[in-house]
Amino acid sequence: MPATPVALVTGANKGIGLQIAKDLAAQDLAVLVGSRELDRGEAAAKSIDGNARAVQLDVTDQSSIAAAAELIRVEFGRLDVLVNNAGISHAPAPGRSMEEIVRAGRLSAASLDEIRSVFETNVFGIIAVTQAMLPLLREAPAGRVVNVSSSGGSLTLNSDPANPHRAMFGTYSVSKAAANAVTVAFAADLEADGIKVNAACPGFTGTDLNFFRGTRTVEQGAREPVRLALIGPDGPTGTFSNEDGPLPW
Ligand code: NAP
Repeated sequence: MPATPVALVTGANKGIGLQIAKDLAAQDLAVLVGSRELDRGEAAAKSIDGNARAVQLDVTDQSSIAAAAELIRVEFGRLDVLVNNAGISHAPAPGRSMEEIVRAGRLSAASLDEIRSVFETNVFGIIAVTQAMLPLLREAPAGRVVNVSSSGGSLTLNSDPANPHRAMFGTYSVSKAAANAVTVAFAADLEADGIKVNAACPGFTGTDLNFFRGTRTVEQGAREPVRLALIGPDGPTGTFSNEDGPLPW
């Protein structure tokens, strides 16, 4: 097996994913910058100081996922860390007004097409990519999977009537609650293989996802996913946390 540990970050051509890729490269991992558009991934990889290379990866496209897994096996020979970062807050919205997009966040008004589209990336994308990378992760000495989730998906926090953000518990948040459930399922399933699977919330971070309204920097947002990507043998599995500590499911 090649000596340098390898990490794959999905949706790493911009935002928090790109910063996670930069931080992992700074820790001397070889980093694969997953990007659904290869040229944008290549531009992002060039901006990374260290060992980084773009890989075409659309988490909703099974053939793209299989090709990425094959490329990693043939050209890198190992995969130690998978960060499932790719995510969308709503379905692709050409021609839709802001008001329509906000309405589609509410389950009382969202179309099933909208909900399926968000789940396709935020939930099934995590399952599909993790499954495809499992043969490589199982061969790694210490496989790690981090799912980039959100405290907005916390059932506990959003069940509290005093939580002012609760009105926003809609399509996106429901997908993140499902991603948390997927985290618990993979963690339990892979415990015997020594693969640790955790969910990290980056906090409200200024990116395209929220029209740069987030108040945290990508450097801050990347910290908890990166910490969990690099945990040692004594580190946890099946947890949900942000930089300040554990979050309620
Ligand atoms: P972002 O800047 O919009 O980045 C999202 C990334 O996901 C982009 O690289 C995007 O690629 C990629 N992506 C979307 N659909 C994809 C697909 N089907 N296949 C592969 N890549 C895909 O948003 P971000 O804030 O950095 O989001 C990163 C993660 O953090 C997401 O999971 C998000 O839910 C989570 N999060 C963000 C915040 C926040 O405040 N920003 C808070 C909590 C959780 P394209 O460039 O091709 O669109």
